[in-house]
Amino acid sequence: MANPEDNLFKNVISHAKEYGFIFPSSEIYDGLSAVYDYGQNGSELKNNIKEYWWKFMTLLHDNIVGIDAAIFMHPTTWKASGHVDAFNDPMIDNKDSKKRYRADQLIEGVIEKLEEKIEKEVEKAAKRFENFDRAMFVSTNARVVEYQKKIDEINTRMKDALSRSDMADLKQLVIDLDIADPISGTKNWTDVRQFNLMFSTEMGSVAEDANKIYLRPETAQGIFVNFLNVQKTGRMKIPFGIAQIGKAFRNEIVARQFIFRMREFEQMEMQFFVKPGEEMKWYEYWKEKRLKWHQALGLGNDNYRYHDHLNLAHYANAACDIQFNFPMGFRELEGIHSRTDFDLKSHEKYSGKKLQYFDSEDNQNYIPYVVETSVGLDRMFLSVLASAYHEEKLEDGSDRVVLRIPPPLAPNKVAILPLMKKDGLPEKAQEIMNLLKFDFRCFYEEKDAIGKRYRRQDAIGTPYCITVDHQTLQDNTVTIRNRDTMKQERVAIAAVKSVIQDSVSMAELLKRI
Ligand code: ATP
Repeated sequence: MANPEDNLFKNVISHAKEYGFIFPSSEIYDGLSAVYDYGQNGSELKNNIKEYWWKFMTLLHDNIVGIDAAIFMHPTTWKASGHVDAFNDPMIDNKDSKKRYRADQLIEGVIEKLEEKIEKEVEKAAKRFENFDRAMFVSTNARVVEYQKKIDEINTRMKDALSRSDMADLKQLVIDLDIADPISGTKNWTDVRQFNLMFSTEMGSVAEDANKIYLRPETAQGIFVNFLNVQKTGRMKIPFGIAQIGKAFRNEIVARQFIFRMREFEQMEMQFFVKPGEEMKWYEYWKEKRLKWHQALGLGNDNYRYHDHLNLAHYANAACDIQFNFPMGFRELEGIHSRTDFDLKSHEKYSGKKLQYFDSEDNQNYIPYVVETSVGLDRMFLSVLASAYHEEKLEDGSDRVVLRIPPPLAPNKVAILPLMKKDGLPEKAQEIMNLLKFDFRCFYEEKDAIGKRYRRQDAIGTPYCITVDHQTLQDNTVTIRNRDTMKQERVAIAAVKSVIQDSVSMAELLKRI
């Protein structure tokens, strides 16, 4: 039987296309794998998410400034950051289905199943015992202890194989765990090979290896190499942060989940520079702050959870993800990483330039430690779109699809709809549009029956529809229809702005954090 969650995800994807949010890239040529274009409504929603993030970082924190670094960087940047040597994923192919996988993800799939089993045992026991003590149960129940032991063993073996780049051992683990391809059902695997995720191209007209440059796989390095430029010109004092929104590129091995995993995507990253030894305090601070930023959107607090990293990247001394309950389950939405002084130290080494901060309070020079918050803009978009999408049956028996997008993020804030295309109603509606368009993104439409127009606005998430009718001409009032409640109220044109202002305001949203 088809999984209703899968159907929902399919419906979200086709809705996104039908209503101008997201199109497959170069669709007339049948698209390009894992690359997407944002349409007229999608780019508005995306810009609003960016604004929400950017203002949170740079307006609500007087010690955070923003930059916009180039995508192309000196190739040594990527040697210093470790990406040339270590930004690899282990890939494995199934010879029967011809499908390609990440070996580590196949192994993590086994761990996830064991974790689910533990959760089931916990749930069963929690129902049976009053005053249920989870920690006690997990450490004493024989079955759970056995599952946990297995998880730890698998994790240790995988981490060990990955750290030694021992691909034969990783394949052996796939075999020992008896992992079958979900498509062919067979265990007919190729060897595991390391695959570097960076895209490269040549700069200039001569195609020599010396001219090889990379498309940045993360925006963070543009911040690290500019650390001193910003600190000096901005007279920044530690602790301080540098924020950036920009494109990143990764030649992902498996990219199958719509805009969740793309080959060209956008990141919103902030590197927070702190005094060595204080990084854990700031790591906890940013973990909490970033979760609050997500929760303020009102998509449901239960849809978020932390996931601590067991296998830390080479540069980190602590790391966790904020996961979101996407249509395909809980997955990483944002990463919070304590990156130590790895990046700045390494850039110092490779560039031969000092990247140190003079702390006038302590009268000493040091390389700051860094706590980073890194959220994928496209994943944010998917979290908003998927949780906003609702298929509803109305009291009169009709259906509607409504996008309950948080109003400050909605592509249009108001639709202005003359009831008829005659009797001076369009002219009056235009007058209202001219009044409101400086404050809100307005959409004007006069074609089709009013009910149909309401449905179209529901489908793109417009929070308010203003209808101009014959009474408007007499007493300068209009009806305002609320997208979520579908209730209509009659208000004076002069009062329209104040009625809708607070609910669509970015400032009000920011105050909720
Ligand atoms: P994953 O484990 O899902 O591959 P990651 O841990 O490699 O992600 P980071 O390097 O921490 O991701 O990147 C920071 C953020 O950038 C992620 O939390 C995610 O939101 C986003 N991101 C990373 N890779 C992609 C991608 N291929 N497509 C869309 N967003 C991405």
